[in-house]
Amino acid sequence: MKTTLKTYTAGEVCKGFVYNELEGKGLYGLSGRLTIQPEYQRNYIYADGKKDVAVVQSALHQYPLGVFYFNKTDDDRLEVLDGQQRITSLGRFITGKLAIIDDGGIPQYFTSLSPELQACILSTPLLVYECEGTEDEIRRWFETVNIAGEPLNPQELLNAVYSGEFVTLAKQEFSNSQNANVQKWSHFIKGAANRQDFLERALQWVSRGDVEGYMSRHRHDTNINELRTYFNSVIDWIDAVFIDIEREMRGREWGRLYETYHHTPYNPQEVREQVQQLYGDPYVKDRKGIFEYVLGGCKDQRLLDIRIFDEATKRSVYKLQTEKAIAHGESNCPLCALGHSANRTKIWKPSEMDADHVAAWSKGGATDIKNCQMLCRTHNQAKGNR
Ligand SMILES: [Zn+2]
Repeated sequence: MKTTLKTYTAGEVCKGFVYNELEGKGLYGLSGRLTIQPEYQRNYIYADGKKDVAVVQSALHQYPLGVFYFNKTDDDRLEVLDGQQRITSLGRFITGKLAIIDDGGIPQYFTSLSPELQACILSTPLLVYECEGTEDEIRRWFETVNIAGEPLNPQELLNAVYSGEFVTLAKQEFSNSQNANVQKWSHFIKGAANRQDFLERALQWVSRGDVEGYMSRHRHDTNINELRTYFNSVIDWIDAVFIDIEREMRGREWGRLYETYHHTPYNPQEVREQVQQLYGDPYVKDRKGIFEYVLGGCKDQRLLDIRIFDEATKRSVYKLQTEKAIAHGESNCPLCALGHSANRTKIWKPSEMDADHVAAWSKGGATDIKNCQMLCRTHNQAKGNR
C-alpha cells in the first residue's frame, strides 16, 4: 500500500460540505472531491452532543485531532477511510448545523464566533494519509490500525472489506433504524441497527456462522433475496412457536435453534404454558435457557441452572444424617449404607458429600430442607438429577 502524508486545513476539507440530515451522514468535502461516507462506512454516530462537540472544542483549543486516512480511488477521487466522524462533526459546525456551549452556558454557532476564532477553526491542520492499494492491503490496514474514539466493530470492518452492491442493499434492509421492522427484530436480537448488529445477525444465521465466507461469495450479488428470506424465516418461526414475547428472548442463538428445531412440530399453546410455568418456577435460575429447554422437549435441565441447596441447609442435613448414621453404625451416605462394599459404614466428611433432591426438581421436588439429602460424591453424580 502506498501512503502519502498530506496536511489539509479543516476549512479545505469542509469546503462544499454537504450533510444529509435525514440519514445523519456527511456526504462530501474538499469541494466535492472527497466522499465522506462511502457506502461501506458506518453511519455517523458522533451526533450525541458530546463527541461531536468535543471534536469542535479540540479544534478551538488547537488540540491534535489525530490522523486521518483517505483512500484514493481509480478515478482520482478520495474516500474517507478513517476520520469520517471527526470530519462530519467539523463540517456540521462550520455549516451551522451544530452549536457548542460556551463557558457562560450559551450555545455558540460558528457564525457567532469572533473572526479570530472562526479563522482558528478553519485553519486547523488535519494530518491525512492518502492510501492507494489493493483490497487486501486496505483490509490489512483496517485490521491493524487502532482507530481512536469509536473503534469499528467486526461487522463494520467486513462491510468495508466487502463493500459493493450486496453490502449496500443489505445495509438498506438491516442497518436502517427507520425500518419499521427493527422494533420487532429487537425482541429477539440485541444491539442497534446503525452499529450493524442486525445485519451481523442476519449474516450469521444465513451463513451458519461463516459471515466472512458468505460476504465474499455474495459480494457481487445484485440482490439480497437469500439473506432476507432466511432471516425472515427465522423470525417468523420464533413468532409462530412462542406466542408471548419475553425479555430473555433477546440475544438468544435463534439461528442455531431454528436449524435444530424448525422441523419439529410444536403446539404453540402448549409451549406457552410450559414457558409460563418455568417463568413462575422459583428454582429456575437461568430464564435465558427456558426457550431452548422447551424446544428440546424439556429434557436438558442444565439449560435452566436449577437452584441448589444453600450452605446452611446442607450443613444441618449433614449433621442430622451423620448423627443418625453413627448411632446405627452405618454410612452417612444413605446409598452407601444400602450397599455391600467397605463404604457401607463409611462416615464421609462434609467436603466429600453433595446435596441431592430426594424428589427430582423435574418431578416437582422442591429445593427446601425436607427434600434435601446428602450423598457421597459418587452416588450424587450417579444420580445426576439435582
Ligand atoms: Zn454413597
